[in-house]
Amino acid sequence: MQSGKIGVTTENIFPIIKKFLYSDHEIFLRELISNAIDATRKLKTVISAGDYKGELGDQTIRVSIDAKKKTITVSDRGIGMTAEEIKKYINQIAFSSAEDFLEKYKDQADGMIGHFGLGFYSSFMVSDKVEIISRSYRKGAKTVKWTCSGSPEYTLEEGERDDVGTDVIVYFDKDSKEFLEESRITELLKKYCKFLPVEIAFGKVKEWKDGKHVDTDKDNIINNTKPAWTRKPSELKDEDYTNFYHELYPVADDPLFNIHLNVDYPFNLTGILYFPRIKNNIEIQKNKIQLYCNQVFVTDSVEGIVPDFLTLLHGVLDSPDIPLNISRSFLQSDSNVKKISSHIMKKVADRLSEIFKKDRKEFEKKWDDIRLFIEYGMITEEKFYEKASKFALLKNTDGKYFTFEEYEKIIKENQTDKNKTVIYLYSTHKEEQFSFIEIARAKGYDVLLMEGQLDTHFINQLEQKFKDSRFVRVDSDVIDKLIQKEETTESKLTGEQKDHLTPVIKSQIHNSDKFMVIFESLKENDNPMIITQSEFMRRMKDMSALGGEMGFYRDIPDNYNLVVNANHPLIEKVVNEMEKKVGEKVEKIKEKMKPLEAGKERRRD
Ligand code: ADP
Repeated sequence: MQSGKIGVTTENIFPIIKKFLYSDHEIFLRELISNAIDATRKLKTVISAGDYKGELGDQTIRVSIDAKKKTITVSDRGIGMTAEEIKKYINQIAFSSAEDFLEKYKDQADGMIGHFGLGFYSSFMVSDKVEIISRSYRKGAKTVKWTCSGSPEYTLEEGERDDVGTDVIVYFDKDSKEFLEESRITELLKKYCKFLPVEIAFGKVKEWKDGKHVDTDKDNIINNTKPAWTRKPSELKDEDYTNFYHELYPVADDPLFNIHLNVDYPFNLTGILYFPRIKNNIEIQKNKIQLYCNQVFVTDSVEGIVPDFLTLLHGVLDSPDIPLNISRSFLQSDSNVKKISSHIMKKVADRLSEIFKKDRKEFEKKWDDIRLFIEYGMITEEKFYEKASKFALLKNTDGKYFTFEEYEKIIKENQTDKNKTVIYLYSTHKEEQFSFIEIARAKGYDVLLMEGQLDTHFINQLEQKFKDSRFVRVDSDVIDKLIQKEETTESKLTGEQKDHLTPVIKSQIHNSDKFMVIFESLKENDNPMIITQSEFMRRMKDMSALGGEMGFYRDIPDNYNLVVNANHPLIEKVVNEMEKKVGEKVEKIKEKMKPLEAGKERRRD
């Protein structure tokens, strides 16, 4: 038996590590299993290179708990290690890299936790003692047993194991008893190892027999070694994609469509993204894109790696090139990550464009469900706007869909006002704004339906992008004001008559201080009165309700215009009657006021 000191300079690095990484102890299992997978792969390589003559045999990685000994064992049939290799890879490299790591990140512990792998070393976060029993594939290699009890001291002796491979046995400390629960380990295996490329067995499949669960002799394999994203798109049918979606999110509805990513230059990236069917906002948040590194689950917070708007999608991304063991802020400025992000965006846009071109009908059917993603993307990412503006759709109040280009053609002639501005009329609520829509349509105008969650922002965006164009809601003014043409109609009422009529009208309405009476010279057969709300004020209020910096507008009460048609016979009648009734009285008052008025004039002189 040999003993020695692990090559770390800090005397007691273990307790520090334990405390440091407190919140993420569970990753030890991911790390041990990843090592086992690597070792298994390496043995395959060695065999195919002809350097090892033995059998590959059953490669299953086995995970088992021993409640009495308070241990978990991860056992592989991989390449194994000789005593020399243990000294080199475990004692020196593994531990010194842990020390480097700590040294580098000691000031930013919060940012890094959860986004790195500490490798083998992380098993000390949960244990008092770790043993490695390993036998190398090398000819004549003896089984070695390495033991380390949570201090820089270790022992190395001969161990017992007949076949090539490695057992890592972790003796849990008193704070880590949770990992002795079968359910906890199952949960972790499901989280981190669900799609690992080598079969992982955790106990046996159970069956119900004589009133209790008993083990069968079949291994309980917890992973799918060939998940859809690792296969060629040509091998997969639509239903394979849907099935895989449900493997990821068991209770979600079928997705709308998917995008299979497969990039090998200038970086490696595979994955499948899905456009989910969304029922409400809560649903969007719940299921997230999962990030993998060579099929090992890393995280489901992909902010910074994929463009913001695409974080609303579902699915998986797998890249060995995304630097996982570093802090978030670094990630966001990493140029590789930026490339990945813009590439994913391009792929998504290309795929949407392809569906649009291939099957416009299908695309239109899905539009209402996907518009949230697309509009969000168009608002936030210039590059995406460029691509998406070719296939994004506008829907009118008849439920017809148009591309931007198509729609402009349709309205350009009729809806251009005297200042050469193309006016896009829209409604946010077909029923509530029904009469306004009807009026606009009677003029031969078309009205868009903009009822989506992001449409307030989206409209702003479109106004900036479209040349000489403006969006106005159908009820923001009388139609002839919304789209002003050259011809004007003379008003039948004089200024004085309008002044007199205003208080009369106001006296008849409830909450009159919310209304501003405005006279317009409309046609005789237009409505006598109409209530409108200014586009500007309403939009500012809508925007501030959505959050943003315009909180000030949110507190302004709703104000409306009461537009009176100065040329409507009914209004004429009211004026006539008013003048008749109050005429005489007014005349008398006027008489009395004359000397006063004259006095005022004099004083002014
Ligand atoms: P990393 O896996 O990032 O290299 P680790 O600290 O996890 O770092 O492991 C250090 C080294 O120990 C590995 O590179 C590998 O050579 C060796 N090793 C760890 N676990 C095993 C195993 N189960 N079988 C064979 N070699 C292993």
